[in-house]
Amino acid sequence: MKTVYSLLHHEHAPEREFFRGNLVECFEKPDRALKILQEIRKRSLGEIVTLPAPTVESGNNNREEFVDSTTVIEPDADLLRLIKLVHKEAYISFVRTIFQEWRRVVPTQSYALPHTFNRLAKDRAEPASPYAKLGYYSFDTGTPITAGTWNAAIGSAWCAFKGKEIVRKEGMAFALCRPPGHHAHWDICGGYCFFNNAAIAAAAFRTHDPTATVAILDVDYHHGNGTQSIFYDRADVFFASIHGDPTHDYPYFLGYADETGGQNAPGQNANFPLPRGTTWDQYTRVLDAALEKIESQNPQYLIVSLGVDTFRGDAISKFLLESEDFRTYALTE
Ligand SMILES: [Zn+2]
Repeated sequence: MKTVYSLLHHEHAPEREFFRGNLVECFEKPDRALKILQEIRKRSLGEIVTLPAPTVESGNNNREEFVDSTTVIEPDADLLRLIKLVHKEAYISFVRTIFQEWRRVVPTQSYALPHTFNRLAKDRAEPASPYAKLGYYSFDTGTPITAGTWNAAIGSAWCAFKGKEIVRKEGMAFALCRPPGHHAHWDICGGYCFFNNAAIAAAAFRTHDPTATVAILDVDYHHGNGTQSIFYDRADVFFASIHGDPTHDYPYFLGYADETGGQNAPGQNANFPLPRGTTWDQYTRVLDAALEKIESQNPQYLIVSLGVDTFRGDAISKFLLESEDFRTYALTE
């Protein structure tokens, strides 16, 4: 199976995030993607397709080096059209410009974080202050934005888009998307996510073939609240998520079993929250149930939001899956 990868992810490397009352070193960093890449190479898991930057601006599309963070990527028109299908235009502009706005008021800090959120007047128009904008378009304090965040997020979405093309030709692909995407809503970033890569891939399949049926299975430890919310009231994309019970785990406010789809899409959303300490025996039963639900939809395309933080040793998760379990899991799927 081919892996699709973009060097642009290096440009998003914030120093700190706010975590449970403290500024700490970011959990989500370039090293995460590099470790995966290293293992794919070491275990000869197939060709790695390193994408050129999706820019229409520069003639130098084959560069192997990272682009300068001050050069803002102008994305390929097809990619931008797809991003607009799953994200609000004003939010896309926010991701692109907020860091420059932030630097004008906080010239010395290399990352921007919100400190207030709009719980007061939800219908208010977009505010002018960069501090307010950060809270207007974010749902947590753990998702710093830097000079290179836009470029990296575009590179990540580009991997999802190109992954879809390989799937159409070869049946399967692994898009190594960083930053991740499943917590990003239509108009809110959070959980280290800016553009929802799985949703972009689903939109790409549907754009290519408007009658295509698509299912998304999210196996990250944390509920895929962004993906759920984007498709919650749409019957064309089925969403299932197996995750740590949001009663105790991030993102806390979505991911409960009674969230089964909106008025226009009843039964099109399936959540499988599991308790902390879940082992493979418990997990595999729920995985079977989720796969049964997906099979009953008879989708032409399956997108897996593959977070592997269900592993026993993960720093911010509480399931107890072992390395061997992930091999079994791959065979199951
Ligand atoms: Zn996670």
